[in-house]
Amino acid sequence: MPTSPTLPDGPWQRAARGAGLLRAAQVRPTIFAEMTALAQQTGALNLGQGFPDGDGPPSVLAAAQQAIADGVNQYPPGSGDPNLRRAIAAHQQRHYELDVDPDTEVLVTTGATEAIAAAVLALAGPGDEVLTLEPFYDSYAAIIGLSGATHTTASLQPTPDGFRLGAGALQQAATERTRVILLNSPHNPTGAVLSADELAAVAAVAAERDAIVVTDEVYEHLTYDGAAHLPIATLPGMAERTLTISSAGKSFAVTGWKIGWVCGPAELVTAVRSVKQFLTYTTGAPFQPAVALGLDLESGTGPDASWLTDQAVSLAHRRDLLSAGLQAAGMTTATPQGAYFVMADAAPLLTGPLAGAGIGTGAELCRALPELAGVVAVPATAFTSPGSTADLALATWLRFTFVKSEQTIAEAVARLARLSA
Ligand SMILES: *Cc1c(COP(=O)(O)O)cnc(C)c1O
Repeated sequence: MPTSPTLPDGPWQRAARGAGLLRAAQVRPTIFAEMTALAQQTGALNLGQGFPDGDGPPSVLAAAQQAIADGVNQYPPGSGDPNLRRAIAAHQQRHYELDVDPDTEVLVTTGATEAIAAAVLALAGPGDEVLTLEPFYDSYAAIIGLSGATHTTASLQPTPDGFRLGAGALQQAATERTRVILLNSPHNPTGAVLSADELAAVAAVAAERDAIVVTDEVYEHLTYDGAAHLPIATLPGMAERTLTISSAGKSFAVTGWKIGWVCGPAELVTAVRSVKQFLTYTTGAPFQPAVALGLDLESGTGPDASWLTDQAVSLAHRRDLLSAGLQAAGMTTATPQGAYFVMADAAPLLTGPLAGAGIGTGAELCRALPELAGVVAVPATAFTSPGSTADLALATWLRFTFVKSEQTIAEAVARLARLSA
């Protein structure tokens, strides 16, 4: 059994502590690594990790191959390929009527992950607080830890209408030290798409505390049931205090390309660029023209013009298939309106058909699930801080992804039926 790390306290340890790794390292590897290994060992279907098993629009894939053949293989401009910056600005205008200057208010980054990291490092440090929703995407805690700032959270609550941000939750969590509100909608892991009212409450807190909003909108095009994604930057007075982040990975099913971007007021984007230039300097040259083409597809008439909307329709169908299967297996689900995960509460299973199996939590169920049902999920507590309100409330919840083929999901549903048999 490994003993506690004895390296001097530094940025590495702050990041690790933020991500809960120091605590976890003493007892086990991260839950993601453990679940992926379990899937490989047991041949279970992996609905734990959220990456698509299909490819993106053929014309976009071909454009990247062509760019390599054409010699687009050296450092591109630090702010990003001008044509991609233009396509990003046109996309913000077309979808949201947001005006951004492609030269000064758009920065291309190495995935949304780098945009988030550079924004937090640029804007927060020791003595500051960075406020996120909880549960939260796992890189947030690590990067806030690395910045030296303190991570505070406001819990999303499961309701019959999916997970929601209760009135006042964010206001209670904010203090005069709140420097950044790091928002995420559509939300991973819960699938919540924040409503106009919820966003207005966030905007009010940001204004009251004079905080900057950094908003992670990587699932902007993956919304269902007519739920429309609304960028918080479109709310009155918010464009000037908001950095809006997105990426090609989720929209175009190219998660390995790592092309992201951030848009916002020139001085905030300059601050992010000043950090980005020493993290990666520039970002994957041949992928940038391909993503520019992808963003422009919907305004053309080519064969992939409806790819984004078709993908959302197909994902909504797969979401329904998986949700119905989880319910039939004895779990309660909170219907996601966006992103590509379903959260399911296994409590009825643990006190019903599985009572006596010695399984008390979602984490324990995830370890047993490959053997019990041949399926891998991740516990919701992989996205919470140990001991927090959300951590306790979600102790028996699991996250399943539906960004897999319909056939894989149908097979997983058939296997999960064993649980309540
Ligand atoms: C996948 C994901 C990211 C990472 O995006 P990249 O472009 O791959 O860096 C960021 N935020 C959330 C909420 C995600 O689910």
